[in-house]
Amino acid sequence: MTRVNLVHEPKTDDEIAARVKAIESILTEKGLMSEAGVDKFAELYENEVGPQLGAKVVAKAWTDTDFKKRLLKNATSACRELGIGGLQGEHMIALENTDDVHNVVVCTLCSCYPWPVLGLPPNWFKSMPYRSRITREPRLCLKEDFGLELDNGVEIRVWDSNSEIRYWMVPKRPEGTERMSEDELAALVTRDSMIGTGLARNPQ
Ligand code: FE
Repeated sequence: MTRVNLVHEPKTDDEIAARVKAIESILTEKGLMSEAGVDKFAELYENEVGPQLGAKVVAKAWTDTDFKKRLLKNATSACRELGIGGLQGEHMIALENTDDVHNVVVCTLCSCYPWPVLGLPPNWFKSMPYRSRITREPRLCLKEDFGLELDNGVEIRVWDSNSEIRYWMVPKRPEGTERMSEDELAALVTRDSMIGTGLARNPQ
């Protein structure tokens, strides 16, 4: 049987790939997962589920007030209206970023993340520096680590996701986008703007 050293933290892409392969072998050998199942899962989360789905939801919320209300009330059921949902998205809460309040999400315990709308979390989201700094000094963390400088008058709220509830944001709709279609709007919505570590792109 393949041995996995759980103490050593993999650092390079090769080491990570080797560990993934080792875990996959164990699961397959034990009959807990088939190789085809692993491939299907990886393909699904690499190609089909990702922030482009969350962007679609945000663009719809920007253009449809009633939908936005439903989204802010119950993100999981509103997303289901668009055929978006699944694993790690059973209880999602969407928060609106406005001129006065800027919300940002972290999982201080590990890396809980709303997979159906954002895909898999970036490495920095899982990192200790982000998880500790965003809670301790959010304004400075946003500015220094993400280049997002918010006015002192803007209140910053940090939300701690967990395995039960996963938060994500409806970023502010950029100025000058009144005539844009939903598809064009969706292209302005970045992953970071839905985490709260960034803003939606400016159309210019
Ligand atoms: Fe977590």
